[in-house]
Amino acid sequence: PLAAENKSRRVPAHVVFRRLPPHVAAPIAAKFLVVGGGTAAWSAIQALVRADGVQPHQIVLVAEEPYWPYNRTMLSKELWRSDIVDHAPLPDPPSVEYAYKHVAPPAHIAVVNSTAVFLDPDQKYVRTKSGVHIAYDKLLLATGATPRHATSVAPVLRHPSIQPYLSTFRTFSDYRALRQTITSRQQPVVVIGGGFLGTELALALTAVSDNVTLVVSEAGVLFRVLPRYLCHFLAAKLENAGVRVLRSAFVSDASEKDGHVTLQIDSTDQPQPTSITTSHIIAAVGVDPCTQLAKTAGLEIDRHDHGVRVNDFMMVEPDVYAAGDVASFHDRSLGRRRVEHWDHAVVSGRIAAANMAGARERYALQSMFWSDLPAVDVSFTAVGLVDSRLDTVAVWNLEEEAVRDAPSINRFADGVVYYLERSEIVGVVLWNAPKGAAGLRRARALVDAKTCVRGLDERTLAALV
Ligand code: NAD
Repeated sequence: PLAAENKSRRVPAHVVFRRLPPHVAAPIAAKFLVVGGGTAAWSAIQALVRADGVQPHQIVLVAEEPYWPYNRTMLSKELWRSDIVDHAPLPDPPSVEYAYKHVAPPAHIAVVNSTAVFLDPDQKYVRTKSGVHIAYDKLLLATGATPRHATSVAPVLRHPSIQPYLSTFRTFSDYRALRQTITSRQQPVVVIGGGFLGTELALALTAVSDNVTLVVSEAGVLFRVLPRYLCHFLAAKLENAGVRVLRSAFVSDASEKDGHVTLQIDSTDQPQPTSITTSHIIAAVGVDPCTQLAKTAGLEIDRHDHGVRVNDFMMVEPDVYAAGDVASFHDRSLGRRRVEHWDHAVVSGRIAAANMAGARERYALQSMFWSDLPAVDVSFTAVGLVDSRLDTVAVWNLEEEAVRDAPSINRFADGVVYYLERSEIVGVVLWNAPKGAAGLRRARALVDAKTCVRGLDERTLAALV
């Protein structure tokens, strides 16, 4: 019954997700059950469909979002420069280019559009919030992560009158809601958090608002990732592009009146508190892995990174696998860690799926991540441990550029930053490096070899990648 035809004539020759009715009386049996509708799940389904001996009708996806799997990375980037506000809900095929489309060969995948709330790994079944009971042979947990609320970092925002104005930003629905509520360029928007999302989103929002404020608790943006001079440089670039960046800042008071919230923001940069009246406050203050389902089964959660512990094969225990943001995995070069980036979701999802289908593949590739900030001419890719608490050495091409409030500063045009542990390279950022796989491949090799930089001169360092 799971392989019923999708009747839509618009379906191109690729995977077709077919939404099951919300209340299925009879239990479902899935050879391969994938829980989660994000990138890791999508990548796993692609790999399963390609695996020898796997039939698409043996795969069931439990996904709580009402959309086809889509590419989340665009939510804080390209979409804001487009006029796209719609994305085909299940079960229709995707109508816009950013949905994941290219799954070969053509396949029919059944989707239960609900949240998986209970897992019994002994009886091997999952139950959904909508009451569907799904037995499995092999299970993949690709439940991702959920955003932290603004109230976790700014207790003054807890008052019920403030709640309607607060949001997090993680899904296509979040994007659409925010996009639809910003109706004029004068509308003030406040983003709290200077990590990947806050930085990218604040800059992207300048495409629709002339009044974007980024509230950052640290002294610059991407402070936990980049060396300090780059955080300051990037914050200045954001300001030059029209984002008001309040550094070393926190929300000290909030009050609601006539459909708006007035925030008081204290900052060590400003002698007086800053007052901003807005109706949109977006928290971008990190995510927590979604481990609730794993916890219902008593699966092991890592004490340090809070993910579901998997071995080199992305296996939690026989017949249960995890991939993507939720997985605490064993990185053979860098030790146990959890990674919240797209490429890791793709690679780990693929490897978990291959092993579910009978392969014996270890997770050995060093995943990469990237950030695109086109409005400030910055784009970087990175591999390994990219953590600003580590020592760094870097090689730069510098250019002179006038930036507001800093008339002539050295512009970090392009360069390479090496992150070091005991003088060994454990992470690399390729800043505005020419696109291409070769530099990335060399960066991966440097991290895997834990290359020692002691005694290397500038020319040799520059030639490493
Ligand atoms: P993040 O982990 O990148 O950054 C969290 C940020 O929260 C910190 O940098 C800090 O500025 C802020 N913060 C934490 N505690 C705070 C406090 N007490 N007061 C004020 N601010 C505080 O998480 P994010 O930026 O929210 O992004 C969400 C997720 O999306 C992450 O998993 C991230 O990796 C992912 N993402 C990745 C990319 C990319 O790879 N290019 C882009 C966007 C989002």
